[in-house]
Amino acid sequence: MTTEIHPLVNVFIDTSFDAAALVGPDLEVLHYNRAYLQLAELSPRAMKKDPHARMCHEHFGLTVCEKDGCLSQRAMETGKSIRIDEVGSSKRDLTVNLLAIPLVDERLHAYACIEIYRDVTAESRMQNNYKGLLDRERRRAELLQQEVQRRTADLHRANEALNRALQQVSTLARTDPLTMLHNRRVFDEQLTREVQRAIRFKREMSLVVIDLDHFKQVNDKLGHQAGDDALRTVSRILTAQTRTVDTVARIGGEEFALVLPETNVEDAMVVVDRLRRTQETDGLHTTFSAGVAACPRHAVSEEELFKAADRALYTAKGKGRNRVEMFR
Ligand code: GH3
Ligand code: MG
Ligand code: MG
Repeated sequence: MTTEIHPLVNVFIDTSFDAAALVGPDLEVLHYNRAYLQLAELSPRAMKKDPHARMCHEHFGLTVCEKDGCLSQRAMETGKSIRIDEVGSSKRDLTVNLLAIPLVDERLHAYACIEIYRDVTAESRMQNNYKGLLDRERRRAELLQQEVQRRTADLHRANEALNRALQQVSTLARTDPLTMLHNRRVFDEQLTREVQRAIRFKREMSLVVIDLDHFKQVNDKLGHQAGDDALRTVSRILTAQTRTVDTVARIGGEEFALVLPETNVEDAMVVVDRLRRTQETDGLHTTFSAGVAACPRHAVSEEELFKAADRALYTAKGKGRNRVEMFR
């Protein structure tokens, strides 16, 4: 039984901007518009010669139809419209949005199907190009970010190395290389600071200046290397016998100084005496003489204090060496 096609269906197909065709129950093309012929790249004559609907997907080469069979057939079997977007072609550079609308009679039996093909090739190509561009840009941004991270890490490492080097330089600038004691610069800084603190807080501090006795003879008799060893031994004794708050410095060839915060001159004398006794038992080839002065008792500036301690040392040397003198 054939159901008559409503004339409006043909009008709809004729006036559609999209390629449109009406397909019968055997998939024969019953009606089509100009856009359909253009999209199928068929002449009206060729179309009349073989008006079979299979031609449409064969000519378009639509991948969906090649894979799952004719869309109209499926639409008519189920009685439901089918829409599939962005269907590509295996034969041509073609992308379409596909719509198959079955026409059903009062018993819900499909007797024909309208096929509409919207050519979206240009949009799809543009979208693909845009997507490609976007992917490339994203990849480039990723690579850039990786590069930035790599360089940041390099910079971080270089910065750490630089800081370590700076730390080493700063330590070297403040350390005597032979004995690893503080050098003259640190001694000057510490002396200034402790003198100021002693005056401000009215707490006595002491300065001890030490000079090795007849050290020239040690070098002459035992050699310069033995002299160096003796300087290092003295340094170890001084460090071991003083507190961490005290400053032990090598301030000249065989001259040392102790800055003793919060230490009165009597206590400083005790410290130096202990040093002398340790030195005697340590097998050192030399003795030392020392001068002690205190702030504010003997002086109220670092220059005066140093002069006072040095004067006391001079007295100790004059009295025969290997002794400690307090400034008077
Ligand atoms: P005094 O008891 O009067 O202090 O006699 P001295 O021989 O210790 O004094 P002097 O100033 O005449 O000589 C100091 C010597 O210290 C001279 C120098 O050879 C030695 N000296 C200075 N610095 C160093 C050093 O770094 N290493 C060695 N081995 N000797 C040094
Ligand atoms: Mg000397
Ligand atoms: Mg000396």
